[in-house]
Amino acid sequence: MIEPFSKARARMVWNQLEHRGIRDSRVLLAMGNIPRERFIRHATCQPITDPYADCARPVGRGQTLSQPYMVAAMTQALQIPKGARVLEIGTGTGYQTAVLAHIATEVWTVERDPVLASEAKERLDDLGLKHVRIRVGDGSLGWKEGSPYQGILVTAGAPQIPPSLIKQLAPRGCLVIPIGPHDQQQLVRVTLNPDGTISARETLMECRFVPLIGHEGWRGAESWPPDVAP
Ligand code: SAH
Repeated sequence: MIEPFSKARARMVWNQLEHRGIRDSRVLLAMGNIPRERFIRHATCQPITDPYADCARPVGRGQTLSQPYMVAAMTQALQIPKGARVLEIGTGTGYQTAVLAHIATEVWTVERDPVLASEAKERLDDLGLKHVRIRVGDGSLGWKEGSPYQGILVTAGAPQIPPSLIKQLAPRGCLVIPIGPHDQQQLVRVTLNPDGTISARETLMECRFVPLIGHEGWRGAESWPPDVAP
């Protein structure tokens, strides 16, 4: 039996990713396999017309699931080496986590909202992604127990690079993070030298994410999300 979204998924990979220059075959393969429709919350969203549409989607609790291209570009930018342990900050729906889990050997992910974290865990378990660990907490401080990580991906916007994340990065490791004010950020990649010093800080593209709220993120933004849905 052909599953109902397989054509939409293949079209998304071709039109939105390959055509726009995503070249990492691991990213294309992962996103060609993961059922994005399962990561969109039914209760709080508009009826799902096209989960593969070329846009970000509201997922309730004031949060969004990123546009497919942004997920692909961020994952590609992380340049995940073989056998890597990767840390993600901002699990959200768990879709980006699933993409990372198709590529990395271990994925550790931190989400501050317990409801989102438990829903994401259920979805990831259903997909059999057993090498993913989820914790509820302030991811601006990283997750020390799993460090060092070969890659760290932050999917929420921060005012500056959290020093804890640099400390938890392995030599030659890569941190990808949106940096800037609430309404617009730049996706920044920091790469470490073999001796653990910073080798490069590059600006990759413009982006717009919900805020990273925490000790080394935006403080005093505890009122986020503005309209918490049940
Ligand atoms: N990557 C997600 C989308 C992330 S939206 C996906 O694929 O669905 C950003 C997420 O970051 C939100 O779920 C928000 O609750 C979370 N977040 C914000 N500040 C955080 C912090 N300090 N630690 C952990 N998660 C945080």
